[in-house]
Amino acid sequence: MSEWQTVIGLEVHAEMETESKMFSSCPVVDSVEAEPNTAVDALSLGMPGTLPVINTRAMEYGIMVGLALNCEIPPINQFARKNYFYPDLPKGYQISQYDRPLAVNGHINIELEDGASKRIRVRRAHMEEDTGKLSHIMGGSLVDYNRAGVPLLEIVSEPDISSAEEAEAFARKLRSILRYLGVNSGDMSKGVLRFEANVSVLHQGDAELRERTEIKNLNSIRNMVKAIEAEAKRQIKLYSNGDTVKPATLGWDEAAQKIKVQRYKERADEYRYFPEPDLPIVEVSREKVAEISAQLPALPDELRRRFVDQLGLSNYDAAVLTSERAVAEYFQKIVDAGVDPKLAANWLATDLFRMMNANEIERELIDGIPVTARNFASLLALIEQGTINQSIARKQVLPEMWSTGADARDIVEDRGLAQVSDPAIIEASVKIALAENDELLQRYLDGNEKVLNALFGKIMGAMRGKADPAVVRGVLLGKLESMK
Ligand code: ADP
Ligand code: MG
Repeated sequence: MSEWQTVIGLEVHAEMETESKMFSSCPVVDSVEAEPNTAVDALSLGMPGTLPVINTRAMEYGIMVGLALNCEIPPINQFARKNYFYPDLPKGYQISQYDRPLAVNGHINIELEDGASKRIRVRRAHMEEDTGKLSHIMGGSLVDYNRAGVPLLEIVSEPDISSAEEAEAFARKLRSILRYLGVNSGDMSKGVLRFEANVSVLHQGDAELRERTEIKNLNSIRNMVKAIEAEAKRQIKLYSNGDTVKPATLGWDEAAQKIKVQRYKERADEYRYFPEPDLPIVEVSREKVAEISAQLPALPDELRRRFVDQLGLSNYDAAVLTSERAVAEYFQKIVDAGVDPKLAANWLATDLFRMMNANEIERELIDGIPVTARNFASLLALIEQGTINQSIARKQVLPEMWSTGADARDIVEDRGLAQVSDPAIIEASVKIALAENDELLQRYLDGNEKVLNALFGKIMGAMRGKADPAVVRGVLLGKLESMK
């Protein structure tokens, strides 16, 4: 039986972090820190008689995102009413955009582990207003309208995503772009960035896409990945049992690590969209688009290409190092100090990231870690010059740099960690180690070549790890050869 394939389209809601709300001067506040219902005005509360006014800055932010996602920006925008009742929506309708959105026909490139890139099409991005926030506590529900009316950009992908890993790459890339642009912090725990995943599965040979379900309330990229994997499995199982997949809204139950059906959709939702009568049609001039386009910062794809073309990094390494602007800048500083880019990329993406992970420091906060880019560059220079070997650097110098902030060179000097490369000294140690490990030596001479590494380890250990590994290997092999 041929394989099942997963088909995913993402719908993303990103708040545009402006000072005031989408249609009034009411301030936008932190959704977690601020007291509930302290950033509200008559408009946020949907009072009769209030009139919306478009936040120009929010529109500009939206256009920036549209351009960064390679979209066309149509010359005419129109707001529309999306009618539905819910307690977090006091007006009874959400002002959104329907058939004349801010941006259309774009794409995002994602990098896959095998080094390839894939283009995921972006169908549209439209401006709307966020709703309030409901909390269901002790059998009741509380509502906070601080969020009501916050500018929200909805970004919709085509169903071009073929696995949970690709969905993750898309989400990370989009988050990265929003952060580079400075329009959204990407903080999913605060709900300023939210992903919904539409999932179906496909049997090779199917002429059309199959029925999809929609997973909502995904509060982290990791949970999104798990939810997509679980949902694809659930659908495959249904088909394999001869059942069908019914359109449904699903949630991810984090505690149970399970997909939960919230409701089955009997028919398509009917929002009775119509043009918003209280707002004018918005003309977006070509001059304005050109002006915004000229002001866009260098984006991750552009930096990635630069790192590949000019510094010789692999596509994948370059993608990892450009996912956060702060990381790209940290890396650039090391390279500017004269360190070999590939050595710098390796050490940054493995050793330094590992220490940051262990200390639960997000990549974007790399500027604040105890190891400055300059000091990290000195460490790598010491390796390049052969003053210390990689293992001493990794196991002794870097951890101390992290805990004390001390200069790499001072640590090497104070603790006498400089590499020993003098063949005479190494030869003496090799002799002693061979004498002390007679049994290993005999096994080697009897033809068991695998004990070579053990002998090598004994010598490195005896020299407290400071010997130049290449010289040790050479001397050791010479000695063993002469004994055969
Ligand atoms: P609408 O909300 O107007 O019905 P669509 O159903 O075309 O819009 O698409 C909504 C989202 O669902 C988009 O992100 C799209 O890529 C995705 N999508 C549509 N069909 C499928 C499918 N069969 N499998 C997975 N995702 C899908
Ligand atoms: Mg929407």
